[in-house]
Amino acid sequence: MRLHSPVVLPCDADCSVLRDAVVDVADDGRIAYCGPRADAPAFSGPSHELTGVLLPGLVNTHAHSPMTVLRGLGSDLPLLRWLREAMWPAEAKMTARDVGAGMLLGAVEMLRNGVTTSAEMYFHGEQLVESVLAAGSRVVFGAAILDLPGTPWRPMADEISAWIDADGLRSGPHERIELGYGPHSAYVLSPETLAEIAGEARSRGALFQVHVAESLDEDVAQRASHGSVPRLLESSGVLGGRVLSAHSVHLSEEDVAIYARHGVGVAHCPGSNGKLASGIAPLRALLDAGVHVGLGTDGPASGDDLDLLEEARLAALYSRLSTMDASSLGAASALLLATRGGAAALGRDDVGALEPGRWADLVHVDADDPAFATGLDAPDEQVLANLVWAAGARRVTDVWVAGERVVAGGESTRVDRRAAQAAVGEVSARLRAS
Ligand SMILES: [Zn+2]
Repeated sequence: MRLHSPVVLPCDADCSVLRDAVVDVADDGRIAYCGPRADAPAFSGPSHELTGVLLPGLVNTHAHSPMTVLRGLGSDLPLLRWLREAMWPAEAKMTARDVGAGMLLGAVEMLRNGVTTSAEMYFHGEQLVESVLAAGSRVVFGAAILDLPGTPWRPMADEISAWIDADGLRSGPHERIELGYGPHSAYVLSPETLAEIAGEARSRGALFQVHVAESLDEDVAQRASHGSVPRLLESSGVLGGRVLSAHSVHLSEEDVAIYARHGVGVAHCPGSNGKLASGIAPLRALLDAGVHVGLGTDGPASGDDLDLLEEARLAALYSRLSTMDASSLGAASALLLATRGGAAALGRDDVGALEPGRWADLVHVDADDPAFATGLDAPDEQVLANLVWAAGARRVTDVWVAGERVVAGGESTRVDRRAAQAAVGEVSARLRAS
């Protein structure tokens, strides 16, 4: 298959803007060529003419998407009260089927927003993965691991270890599924437990996803005993493998240096951090230190719209406001956070950019919108600015995963969206009533 578009954004390190360009997709679902049409190899397969901007599928580095069933709950509470009073009591009543229903709608919603890969920290992984496969997206599943009275951590860790050992790290059609560990945080798990789980993850090459320093008041005890959560993670031997630190709002210069030293990826979630009044992560400092940063929506009960291009806009706005510097983060850099930066933060080199060998996960943003009225032939910076600052995801019309069109005309080709919404409505009503 060949896709031809007036503008193609491969999301290479320079955020090039290619004009009159094509993307060739091989039969195995990977990209064979991305570049100007004039330089493209001879091609005889089916060709699709697009009218807007073609870019890589977006990579959401931190989500709890099954929480679509809890959307809007406890909307005006700060983090710890929101968790304890609204989220955890409702989640305790959720069944595996509820998780499946929530994830199906979340995956469909994300695909419609151009998000083809999401890193999910949640429970009932089997149903979650089933829904991802039904929608046709990709997931890096981090099995949630907590340590609470009645729910000790070790069986949860053993369960995901056994699953990885049985199915392998990546599986499913076109490797849509990656399995890993989702230890919740250092305020729920002890340093020794975190280190043990990290050892299991490292020995399997799996991703270790953990919440770090989201709000100021959550890590008080850990800060008192270790100085900071990154210092705790370093001193207890957690760092070294593939580690993804979600939020990471309250970091010192030393914490940033620790992350750079150990190749820790960060999932920056500006929308959720703003809504829960958690704070603003030191994005510029992280990037300057060479830390791999991606963007995350967080769960739809705090990052409500599962819209990663909005997170890109918020990341740029917050970065500029917190540094009082309009050059702190431009549209190109914001877009790269949502694509190749996210892939790098997850430790993945097969998604997040349009390069030969990566999966053909593609998003077409139609230009028939006021945001692009100044024309796709405008200078590069203006086209990028119009995409990030003005258009966002509202004109995402078509999405491909491994070369398969999973969104056409703005709707899922695989899932009846209204039925998925109705199923979430039923779950939500039952949780409210019980
Ligand atoms: Zn989270």
